[in-house]
Amino acid sequence: METWFPRPCQLESDWIPVSGRVRHTDGNVPAETGAPKEGIFCSPEKSRSGNGTSLSTALPIRSKESGTMPQHHDDWDPRQRTTEPAEGVHFVEGPASNWIIVREGEDFLVVDGGYPGDLERVLASIRQIGLEPADAKAMLITHGHVDHTGSAAHFSREYGTPILCSPEEVAHVRGQEKHQVTLGQVLRRAWRPRVCRWMLHVIRAGALAAEPATEARAWGANELRALPGSPRAVLVPGHTPGHTAFVLPKANAVVTGDALVTGHPLSKETGVQMLHPMFHSRPEAMGETLSRLADVDASLVLPGHGPALRMRIGDAISSIPAA
Ligand SMILES: [Zn+2]
Repeated sequence: METWFPRPCQLESDWIPVSGRVRHTDGNVPAETGAPKEGIFCSPEKSRSGNGTSLSTALPIRSKESGTMPQHHDDWDPRQRTTEPAEGVHFVEGPASNWIIVREGEDFLVVDGGYPGDLERVLASIRQIGLEPADAKAMLITHGHVDHTGSAAHFSREYGTPILCSPEEVAHVRGQEKHQVTLGQVLRRAWRPRVCRWMLHVIRAGALAAEPATEARAWGANELRALPGSPRAVLVPGHTPGHTAFVLPKANAVVTGDALVTGHPLSKETGVQMLHPMFHSRPEAMGETLSRLADVDASLVLPGHGPALRMRIGDAISSIPAA
C-alpha cells in the first residue's frame, strides 16, 4: 500500500501541546493517570506549573518506554490554541496551519497569516495578548501558499502593514506565480476520508477565492534585523522557490514553515516529518533544505503545521527516518 508520510519518529522530546485530539495507539486508558483516551498532551513542566496557556486540560506526557507517547492520531481536530513557548513568542495553532506573533515590548510582528478564512482568528489572537492588529510592524511570510498568506492582503490594505518575504518568493506571494500541488494530484487521493475532509476545510477556509497580497515585497538587508525579535532569514527552497525559515535568536527558536513540520491534517502521525513530496515544487531540493536547517542554532522548532517542538533542530532532523 502506498505510504504517504514518513513513519513517526521515535522522539523523547519535550512536547509543547500536541495538536488536536490524541488517541492512544493501543486504545487503552493509562491506568496510573486515569486519563481519558483523548486529550491534549504537553510537557511535564507545563502540566505541573499549570501556567494558563490553554493547557488547563493538559496531561503529563509519558515516556517512550511506557508505550504511551502520542505518535499517532486518528482524528484531526481543527481547534485553535495559542501558547507562549518562549518569552514574547506566541505560537498559534490555527485550524489547519500555524502563525506566530513575535512581541518585543509593545512592538510585534506576525509570521504567516493562516487561510483567508482565518482572518478573524488572526486578528483575535493578536488582541488576545493585548495588542492591536493595526500596530503590527510587519507580516513575514515563509512562503506564498494560501494557508500562510490568507490574511496578508487585509493587513496591507487596512493597516498598511509591510508584507515581507524573500526576493525569490515575491511573485508567488503577490499571486503572479503558482507553485503548489495541483487539484488533480489531490483529487486522485480524495477517496481517502482524511483527504476529503481536508479538502472541504480548504474550500471553506476560502482557499479558492484568496486575495493575493499584491503589496508584498522583499525585505531589505537591515530591515529584518530591526524588527521585533531580530529575525534572521534562512533561505530553504524546495517547498517553494523562495521558502524561508526565520531564526529568532533571542528565543533560540526557528520558524520552519513547511520545510519541516510536526503534523498536518493529512498526516496520521505527530512528530517531526516532511510533507508529502507532492506538496513541494522541487522535492529533490528538500535534502539540501534539511541540511541548511540542521545547521541552525535553535532549540525550539515552530513549524507551519503541527505543534511546537522543544528540541535542537539538528536532532529533530536526524530523527527523521531516511533524512
Ligand atoms: Zn502549509
